[in-house]
Amino acid sequence: MKAIRVTQFGGPEVLEVQDIDVPQIQSATQVLVEIRAAGVNPVDTYIRSGTYARLPQRPYTPGSDGAGVVAAVGEAVRHIQVGDRVYGGWPITGTYAQFALYEADWIYPLPSKLSFEQGAGIFIPYSTAHRALFEKAQAQPGEWVLIHGATGAVGLAAVQLAHQAGLRIIGTGGTEAGRALLQAQGVEVVLNHHDPDCVAHILAATEGRGINVILEMLANVNLGKDLPLLAFGGRVVVIGNRGTVEINPRDLMAKESTITAVNLFSTPPETLHHIQAQLSPGLRDGTLLPIVAHTSPLAEAATVHRQILEPGALGNWVLIP
Ligand code: NAP
Repeated sequence: MKAIRVTQFGGPEVLEVQDIDVPQIQSATQVLVEIRAAGVNPVDTYIRSGTYARLPQRPYTPGSDGAGVVAAVGEAVRHIQVGDRVYGGWPITGTYAQFALYEADWIYPLPSKLSFEQGAGIFIPYSTAHRALFEKAQAQPGEWVLIHGATGAVGLAAVQLAHQAGLRIIGTGGTEAGRALLQAQGVEVVLNHHDPDCVAHILAATEGRGINVILEMLANVNLGKDLPLLAFGGRVVVIGNRGTVEINPRDLMAKESTITAVNLFSTPPETLHHIQAQLSPGLRDGTLLPIVAHTSPLAEAATVHRQILEPGALGNWVLIP
């Protein structure tokens, strides 16, 4: 099969297409999936560069998100059959390939309304957004949520989940196209995170009451400015961060507010399975609809790794094996 392989950590050019053997089921609880679409996430680039805290043995095939058709199941697998349309989480072998191996627990049905490309944008983006909004921030209907960086895969998932839960949403985007997408998604207040007056606009939108929940996609740039925006008892959830930042702890004391964070890799498996169960009705009825911004052939993985870190997000990035 064709697969992207990384032999040495480094720049996007280390992503090479190779012919390797199709992985074989090695235990009764494993499932082999023919990958029809692989989701690309920013973390794939951090791992590839060798700078991430958790690194795989090399050579390896990148990719945690994927959707496809079940090609084979181990003898103890009951809830999945060959031919089922599925999406998966935490594959044993990476998803930037024509086939990937999974433990059956990490395979979920892909609703018929969703394409494989959309299915490849469920597990990491929606699980992260759900974990941040509901398990970490305990967001309640009617509260104001600021999705600071709403145009990316996680931000758009958060927008849809926040709508479902009856939250009032302020979403930021860095480009005209991104902000138009947020308007189309029904975000109540759409702002530009590069506007020097962004903070004033956020406070004005809440009529000075402040924000209850902030989902932060770039904490090293924004965390210090986020804290004074919070209402009493407000919660900031750090999702994305690419450096260090100075904060004034007094801003936390004044409002008895909280800074917390998500790390999906550390989220307990039972919590992630529970989140998929909670996502399922919305994925089936179309309330939760992954937005595919870019679809590229597998061989263009290196180009996609360059592009995903550039400004101008509009949803999910997908590779087709
Ligand atoms: P993405 O699709 O590349 O989106 C990046 C987002 O950050 C875009 O909305 C972008 O907006 C926004 N952004 C850029 N500059 C910003 C600024 N100054 N202030 C606020 N937002 C800004 O990435 P993603 O998949 O949504 O993930 C978002 C971040 O969360 C990434 O850093 C990713 O590594 C991280 N993440 C963490 C976890 C976890 O477990 N903690 C899980 C998944 C993702 P524009 O492009 O419109 O400017």
